[in-house]
Amino acid sequence: MIKVKCKYCRYKIEKPRWEHIVAQIRRDGGNIGKNICPSCKKKGLRLDWGD
Ligand SMILES: [Zn+2]
Repeated sequence: MIKVKCKYCRYKIEKPRWEHIVAQIRRDGGNIGKNICPSCKKKGLRLDWGD
């Protein structure tokens, strides 16, 4: 699973595929390309690709 967390707030998602991460963050109102958190709108997204 790929995990994305925000270091400034409690926003957190977990998806099996990168495309799902991108789509979910866009749907939530953020932007993974610009590292914008959908919840707090700060540049706080942190990626964890798992193993
Ligand atoms: Zn945030």
